[in-house]
Amino acid sequence: MKKLFGFILTLVFMASCATTDENPFFSDYDTPFGVPPFHLIENSHFIPAFEEGVRQQEAEIAAIITNPALPDFDNTVAALDYSGDLLNRVASVFYNYNSSNTSDEIQALAQEVAPMMSSHRDNISLNPALFSRIQTVYNQKDELDLTEEQAMLLEETYQSFVRNGAALPAEQQERFREINQELSVLTLRFGQNVLADVNDFKLWIDDEADLAGLPGSVVDAAAEAAAAEGQEGKWLFTLHNPSVMPFLTYADNRDLREKMNRAYVLRGNNDNDNNNQEIINRLVELRLERSKMLGFDTYADFALQNRMAGNVETVETFLKDLWTAALPIARDEAVELQKMITSEGGDFELAYWDWRYYAEKVRKAKYDLDEGEISQYFEINNVRDGIFMIVNKLWGLEFVERPDVPVYHPDATAWEVLEADGSHLGILYMDMHPRASKRGGAWMSSYRRQQVTQDGEFVHPIITIVCNFTAPSGNQPALLTFDEMTTFFHEFGHAIHGLMSDVIYPGLAGTSVPRDFVELPSQVLENWAKHPDVLKMFAKHYETGETITDELIDRIMASANFNQGFATVEFLASALLDMDYHTKTVFESFDVNEFETRVQNRYDMMDEIYFRHGSTHFQHIFSGGYSAGYYSYIWAGVLDADAFEAFVETGDLFHQETARKFRTEILERGGTRDAMEMYKSFRGKEPGIEPLLRQRGLVR
Ligand SMILES: [Zn+2]
Repeated sequence: MKKLFGFILTLVFMASCATTDENPFFSDYDTPFGVPPFHLIENSHFIPAFEEGVRQQEAEIAAIITNPALPDFDNTVAALDYSGDLLNRVASVFYNYNSSNTSDEIQALAQEVAPMMSSHRDNISLNPALFSRIQTVYNQKDELDLTEEQAMLLEETYQSFVRNGAALPAEQQERFREINQELSVLTLRFGQNVLADVNDFKLWIDDEADLAGLPGSVVDAAAEAAAAEGQEGKWLFTLHNPSVMPFLTYADNRDLREKMNRAYVLRGNNDNDNNNQEIINRLVELRLERSKMLGFDTYADFALQNRMAGNVETVETFLKDLWTAALPIARDEAVELQKMITSEGGDFELAYWDWRYYAEKVRKAKYDLDEGEISQYFEINNVRDGIFMIVNKLWGLEFVERPDVPVYHPDATAWEVLEADGSHLGILYMDMHPRASKRGGAWMSSYRRQQVTQDGEFVHPIITIVCNFTAPSGNQPALLTFDEMTTFFHEFGHAIHGLMSDVIYPGLAGTSVPRDFVELPSQVLENWAKHPDVLKMFAKHYETGETITDELIDRIMASANFNQGFATVEFLASALLDMDYHTKTVFESFDVNEFETRVQNRYDMMDEIYFRHGSTHFQHIFSGGYSAGYYSYIWAGVLDADAFEAFVETGDLFHQETARKFRTEILERGGTRDAMEMYKSFRGKEPGIEPLLRQRGLVR
């Protein structure tokens, strides 16, 4: 009887193989370095692959549970971490497509996948038999003689089950599932609504006079954008950053700046189907309900439990201290901008749609510096080669372009990353410019995480960085703003973190670290980008090839802290807004605009500065993983400023021993150790806040 049953199963399995023969997710990837076979993947492959991936992982978990051997680390905790290989393969491609190569069809599929994955995750984390085995192992943890990495995986696994409701009584778990389902769909819709509003808005200009003030390259790009929509002779501006930001910085026409900035601020907050107000209410309500079920007073208490900061009070004190330092500086800046308005004969008060424009004017007057002049030295390939060189000087890595490696979109390029001794480290994709199928912002992600398989095979990572930088236009190459240049370094830092990962278990690989630690490797690299000695090494004029002059560097450095009051206040306002949404102890439905106003009033915020991210398009906290976590960027600012200081103190920005330590103690270790412990073993002490304050000019 048993035998027959096995035979039938085999038949069924073969039958399902036969019908799915064409689906590339079901076979080993026959591609260089085992990258996904993008050229073979069609949208119709996703759902069957997700379904089969779920089935396979369910079978793997059933095998863990029914294993007659007593639960131990390997047969339970490690086995679970290694499970779901097919699902990881299809999910990594699908989610990367959804961010950087989306379409109506992908978005519709995403709506289907989200609840499917949510219930699959819940089936795992709310599985009592599985949790019971994990708990058994956890209760013996002190006697198991585990390595540091194994102990960490056990701790993380156990905590993750508890945080996902495994210890709740059955009837509460049912409600928990419902909440997760709804959250998964809402967070997805939130992002789709923002993208829809961005793509819907078009500022058409047909009177050349309205282009006054805009640099030639920006005008050319707008003309090309118009022509691409069949409107030769007009100019088109959009809410994609490389279009809206220069417009707000340079356009003389104040009414159009206002129109543009209002549209930017109103993303997700218009009188249409893309309005995110209801979704925000529901997200805040459900997150609170879920946190309370787990015994926390607020969502932030829940979220901060496994972060470096540890608790709400630490974060709020930290943010308020910085706010107190930054706000007076921003007020001084506003006075200066108002003076510029008055001196030009303007009879109006500085508004938020004026800030970037007048800041640029004051900057030019004070430091004789404009973005257009600087960006001539940051041609995108030049910057990229500069990053390669710096990473080479620090860690010996080499980058070789591989046109033979399949890419998911013609704009993306593939690179092989090699160690100093020529051995293979991983694959890096780069995809630099905006398009309608890509969400805004810049990010790093992966198609395959580093790990050592149960058979002892070392699996190399496949990493991607996706940006929305200024594109080439006409015969001018892509010239990056200073900000874009440093963002490139930032994302590259994340990529290095993913690439250098040297752990055993996939669940702890690369960037699988606490949210408020993950920005350290990215932000630390920005310090090299901004250093005069390093700028001279790569910043070359795109036409003449001349190295950036000392004189221009001096002006850049002199102006480095210019407008930092604004930048810090704009950022902190969003970080405080995030904390306010997530420290509610009781939910009452609210009007999002009124909620923002209350936050502005509470912190005595200035009308002339709007949130860096307003609620209805604040994707970090409502559709990304930064809820009660937006503070992380400035928290990591403390770490990165202090970490860079370690190099500065040696008198050598490429100090080999310091670089080696940063690699072995932090970059290679993924999430295998406590974050502060990793930091201390690199630095020899805890970080101090002073380097950050100095760096931002926030000490007077
Ligand atoms: Zn980052």
